[in-house]
Amino acid sequence: MTRDGPVWRADYEFDRDASAWAFYNSSNLNGSRQPWRPRDWAVLTPGVVLERVGDLDVLRTRDGGPTPRRISLGLTPRGDALEGDYPALLFTDGSVALFTGAFDVFALARPDPAELTADEIADSRRQGANARISWKDRSGPVLAHGRRTQNAETQDGRAYVLFGRTRVKDAERLVSVADPELPVWIAASLETFAPRVIDHYAMKLGPGQTDRPTILSTWYGPTQGTTNYGGSVLPGLIVMTFEGQELLTPSEAVLSENRWFIAHEAAHFWLGQTVRAERSRESWITEGGADLLAVRAMQTLDDRFDARELLQKEVDDCVDLGDRPVAGAGQRGDHRAYYACGAVLAMAAEALQSRATGGDWFDFLQPLIEDNRASGVLLRSAWLNRLSSLSPDAALATDIDAFLDNGSADPAGFVRSLFDRTGVGYERTGERIVLTLSARQSR
Ligand SMILES: [Zn+2]
Repeated sequence: MTRDGPVWRADYEFDRDASAWAFYNSSNLNGSRQPWRPRDWAVLTPGVVLERVGDLDVLRTRDGGPTPRRISLGLTPRGDALEGDYPALLFTDGSVALFTGAFDVFALARPDPAELTADEIADSRRQGANARISWKDRSGPVLAHGRRTQNAETQDGRAYVLFGRTRVKDAERLVSVADPELPVWIAASLETFAPRVIDHYAMKLGPGQTDRPTILSTWYGPTQGTTNYGGSVLPGLIVMTFEGQELLTPSEAVLSENRWFIAHEAAHFWLGQTVRAERSRESWITEGGADLLAVRAMQTLDDRFDARELLQKEVDDCVDLGDRPVAGAGQRGDHRAYYACGAVLAMAAEALQSRATGGDWFDFLQPLIEDNRASGVLLRSAWLNRLSSLSPDAALATDIDAFLDNGSADPAGFVRSLFDRTGVGYERTGERIVLTLSARQSR
């Protein structure tokens, strides 16, 4: 992967013959749901095309013959947010960070994936491996795995490599790579709050995946009429993007939102990396779980944080989206269901924990994380078993299981019954479920 001024070039050398190559991370653009790679990457090798086929970006020949062993592509990195995936990050000083996993491919036995069964594709995916990538910037060193070098090499599908000179700030508890134009008060808030929230989680949940993360933050400008935060996590790394005029002026409200955002992302060093969901379709465990972890952490660390408003929105959104299956909701673009319904289920679990031991969401999760550290996976069945261990209501886990797989014809009815059976306080206002948080919960 070479950058030469404005020209970005990826030169693939494949280790075997294949009818076609598909990209592991073939997600769509947020919003439009269009594939980004055919838009941003152009094949330079004659006779070869990069096309969207079903839900995969595929490299193959125009005439259906075998793909050559060497294929070159010209890239135009753009920073658009992706659905459940890691975008390129553009910095205002011209630096660019690329996600290593964007280059990983697996071989296909036929040029048209539609002619392959789901099992055959899954099998091909398993046989692939992370690409070994050399990174070269003609104008200077690149930053990979925390080091600036002239010739970096990675074989890691879960990292970013930074091209350009954006300053790396090495602190005791945090490595920060912030866009030089990111408003100073945001950068400062990241640097002070991230270690605090990480300490809080570590105290409640035991060691997480890292206690000295890198935070990579970009600034997409003081756009009027919009305020955008974007974020994601990778091992040891939180990636954040900020945009909007409102962010130029320090305010308690924005600061609190900003902290909430860090708290959610940092929660993934436990729920997501120390233990992860088995498959992305079970992201309700990690996203809803991280939301409630962040709420509980914020209530301790930030006096002004309004838990009620946030949790109420989770309930409202879950009722809206709960008529369809929560598991796999991301495949149809309903990622929000993972957060909202995942948080609603977490609130129910927490209420049972509270009834059983006076504990909270941390207490529900802590043994689940501890028991699954070795495998690194938190299965739905383990989550439900833990729930069942706190309740004599034998049908509860079965009903949640069915809700996850099928949704409910009456999502409001399902959520009410869930809250009745576990002890989450609410009032009925017309059809709406309005949370009435106990003094302790809304502290
Ligand atoms: Zn998340």
